[in-house]
Amino acid sequence: MNVCRAYLALGSNLGDSKGYLQAAIQQLSTHENIEVVTCSSLYQTPPWGNTNQPDFFNCVIEIQTNLSAIALLDVCQTVEQILHRERKEKWGPRTIDVDIIWFDQRAICTPRLIIPHPYMYQRAFVLIPLVEIAPMFTHTLDRLPVEVCEEIQKIAWK
Ligand code: ATP
Ligand code: CA
Ligand code: CA
Repeated sequence: MNVCRAYLALGSNLGDSKGYLQAAIQQLSTHENIEVVTCSSLYQTPPWGNTNQPDFFNCVIEIQTNLSAIALLDVCQTVEQILHRERKEKWGPRTIDVDIIWFDQRAICTPRLIIPHPYMYQRAFVLIPLVEIAPMFTHTLDRLPVEVCEEIQKIAWK
């Protein structure tokens, strides 16, 4: 069976955000077709896109999976549903968001799934945890968005 490496970006800014992130990682790690290989530090980050909302907590994880990319998206969305994700406004507050950032070096552009994630290179809250656990991505970046880095704080998981 073909095992693929993928990177997922997780975020939360409603309720017990740290708990939601940990619960999402736990749900993913107990899925029979997913192995969580590495988890980044936890970061507190300013909201992006819709700035009138609380700070986010973000992390990036590396997984190995024999699921297809679209089947992995189904799992991510199931985890979001289990953890009470509601979609009221674009880029609004959420208990949990699980995005596929990168899947096996593939480029996918379908109505439901775009890979690499279309905004990954504009989002320090994705890039900073990503390069922490996958430094090879540094070579794909012109620059890290340094001006935003200063607002992103690494915080303790526990
Ligand atoms: P953004 O996608 O800009 O980070 P968001 O995470 O708030 O915004 P959602 O409401 O969670 O957006 O997702 C909207 C749709 O994006 C999903 O229904 C899904 O089909 C689609 N989508 C496209 N590409 C991806 C991807 N790489 N990872 C996750 N969802 C994706
Ligand atoms: Ca997102
Ligand atoms: Ca999403």
